[in-house]
Amino acid sequence: MNQTAMTDPQKRALEHLENLIRIPSASGNENALADYCFDALEKTDFTPRRIETGDGRYTVYAEMQGAKKGKTLMFAGHIDTVPVVEGWETDPFEPVRKEVKNESGVMEERLYGLGANDMKPGVALMLTLAEALTGQSEKFSGVISMAFLPDEEAYSVGARALIKSGVKADFCIMAEPTYKYIYIGGPGKMLFSARTHGKAAHGARPQEGINAIVEMGSFLASLENIPVQNDPEMGKQSFVPFRVKGGPDHYSLSIPEECECVVSKQLVPGEHRESIFQALERHVSALGLRGSMTFEIGQPYYLPYREDEHSPAFKLFETVYRQRLGRTPPYKIGSSVSDANCLSAEAGIPVLTFGADGYGSHQKNEYMKIESLSYVFDIYMRFTFEFLGDFSAQA
Ligand SMILES: [Zn+2]
Repeated sequence: MNQTAMTDPQKRALEHLENLIRIPSASGNENALADYCFDALEKTDFTPRRIETGDGRYTVYAEMQGAKKGKTLMFAGHIDTVPVVEGWETDPFEPVRKEVKNESGVMEERLYGLGANDMKPGVALMLTLAEALTGQSEKFSGVISMAFLPDEEAYSVGARALIKSGVKADFCIMAEPTYKYIYIGGPGKMLFSARTHGKAAHGARPQEGINAIVEMGSFLASLENIPVQNDPEMGKQSFVPFRVKGGPDHYSLSIPEECECVVSKQLVPGEHRESIFQALERHVSALGLRGSMTFEIGQPYYLPYREDEHSPAFKLFETVYRQRLGRTPPYKIGSSVSDANCLSAEAGIPVLTFGADGYGSHQKNEYMKIESLSYVFDIYMRFTFEFLGDFSAQA
């Protein structure tokens, strides 16, 4: 493939993508990239606004109204990246195009750079879509919205600020780089601290105290006996201790009275913080500890989600996808959390995660296959008109 074979939207998306890669946007430092998106949207028929996250950052949210009232279709993507890791062969903040032979021996044109896969192509495609839709409000009913979200690689404060602002949608396409698999669900996760409270005593007379570390030991040794749900798709997700700390930092001949452990638990549908804490309380009361134990929820906390791929919107996507690519969408359950968990499980917006084709998220030498910008753009555009056109009249 060479540059002359590119379609106009593909060229434009690539141009945006190259600009986006040149703007560093590791989680916590996304405002320059948010401003780029805001400025680009201001030149379109979309009306952008900034939604404060409360820590000096903002989500950029934009809407474009169609000719008549109708549904709202949202496109969403995160604007942050992970930090640079070791071993890059090129400057991660300078987009580099290369022709490379792929696993099947076919030459393909790739774009390398930090975020070149996860997920600046999705952001670039959304901006290109906003430009392409400009002047076309007569062709659809309802609202097309776009959300550019900071902090997805950390705690999703961007998605949470968006939800808190009251934004709603009937369907959302999350433009993550999930070309090979289209995610329609995934486990959630919670992090909590478990604390044992004992009784201090002279270290030479341990029988007079209650050792909080020993108590924690009994709890940790019994973690796998705590019943958890077994989901047919997401399996059984066990409790995973991440860190334990007990006793004073300096030597003291005393029985430690406090011990804390940070525990992670992935959540499957039906599990949430309340159900997990209930299971923990039941387990602890049967354990016969001598002291007491308390639990406290921490961050991150994401609920699991599972969409219905047989619903009209997913079926419509399937039709559009099949028309463009000649195959069935490879729907799959994800293994990690994303902003999709927040939008779907917290805001009740059905989310389908589909974006450009690339490789190497969170790794060195991350890249995107330039050709995929064209397919994905076509599918976004076609789906938008179908979802907010005839389809919304029938549904
Ligand atoms: Zn991502």
